[in-house]
Amino acid sequence: MNEYDSNRIYDLVSTIGFSKTEIKKNADCFLLNTCHIREKATEKVYHEIGRVKKEFRNLQKPLVIVSGCVAQAESNEMLKREPYIDMVIGPQSYHKINDLILNYKRKKIKINETEFDVVKKFDELEKISNSQNKISSFITIQEGCDKFCNFCVVPYTRGPEFSRSFNQIIHEAKELVKNGVREIILLGQNVNAYYFSDNDKNYKLSSIIKELNNIKNLNRIRFMTSHPNDMSEDLINCYRDCEKLMPLLHLPVQSGSDKILQLMNRKHNIKQYLAILEKLKNVNKNFKISSDFIISYPEENEKDFQDTLNLINTVGFINSYSFIFSPRPGTPAAIKKINDLEKSKKKLQKLQNILEKIQLENNKNYLSKYCEVLVENKLKNDRKFFGRTKLMIPVIFEANDCKPGMLVNVKITSFSKNNLFGVSKINIEKVA
Ligand code: SF4
Repeated sequence: MNEYDSNRIYDLVSTIGFSKTEIKKNADCFLLNTCHIREKATEKVYHEIGRVKKEFRNLQKPLVIVSGCVAQAESNEMLKREPYIDMVIGPQSYHKINDLILNYKRKKIKINETEFDVVKKFDELEKISNSQNKISSFITIQEGCDKFCNFCVVPYTRGPEFSRSFNQIIHEAKELVKNGVREIILLGQNVNAYYFSDNDKNYKLSSIIKELNNIKNLNRIRFMTSHPNDMSEDLINCYRDCEKLMPLLHLPVQSGSDKILQLMNRKHNIKQYLAILEKLKNVNKNFKISSDFIISYPEENEKDFQDTLNLINTVGFINSYSFIFSPRPGTPAAIKKINDLEKSKKKLQKLQNILEKIQLENNKNYLSKYCEVLVENKLKNDRKFFGRTKLMIPVIFEANDCKPGMLVNVKITSFSKNNLFGVSKINIEKVA
């Protein structure tokens, strides 16, 4: 989501004369769009500002702006602790950035803009076109979260759940496709909780997917990140009815232990999670799942950890993310006793070894077979291209007649844990 926000911030500031520079010392403005999910996120921001300060010691001071969730969480504290920062802007206020910059230039008074103002944000963003010109593009459709998992800062930094207008989303999608985008990834902290009501018509995530499925020249649709409790029947059925919806779902389970899920306040258990997967497999037998795992959550014992390993082996998750629990200030879990770090590191290694083995097995299955790849870009080597399979696996392949945006058939000749390698002779469809 921060990548999407950063691009949109750039779309905004470029209208008042800013452009990107690759040469740091040429910059007259630094904007750090920050993410509070990362461990020690706040300290990393101060370190980065420290580096800018050092480099500009003998040069004119640039305008320094911190935006995103760290700005939201730290607010005035940030301006007090690091006077080199001129402005903090929360993730729901960045649509005001141009006025804030112009105001700062006039008055030179530090600015703290951290209101939750999502409605106006999306109305303002609609006035500036999304200049994204990659083959695969994000669209934020929903922000915030009402679930309050005990380890997570999102409900505090991004605020309550808010869904964008259905028409705004479809308009943005059509514009992106007109500009060459072939894959759209719908984003939200709780993307499948999307719900929008307009003139007595109710829209859910499934309504957006069905509408996007009809857009000519759009090849692929994905969405992330979902909560198991919002995997409704209509959404599950999209995997049967909408051929452009890719058969890979990122559905974080976090732990394989019901006891830990309860301590996390996840509001679902393993039986319910497995029942969702069963339904998804029933509507699309090629369906695959990826997840996030938190290891060594407070009070996790050996049995709880083993339950997580068992779940991974049963489900066969691909492309998953795993982390050792680390407390986020202000969350209920932050005051709990932390487990021994050395033991936690060993657990994480064990879990990641299993995930990697599954990933490798999955990639091995492609060997000598053809798979559909959406070409994203040409590599520096003359005849090599980069693209992704339906399951998001990166593919590097050789081809003679190929352009970004095409769907091509690639014969897989070798593989690694993270990549597939191959050759393409047949274009499935020329869409570029
Ligand atoms: S559902 Fe996701 S975003 Fe919401 S609190 Fe839980 S982990 Fe955070």
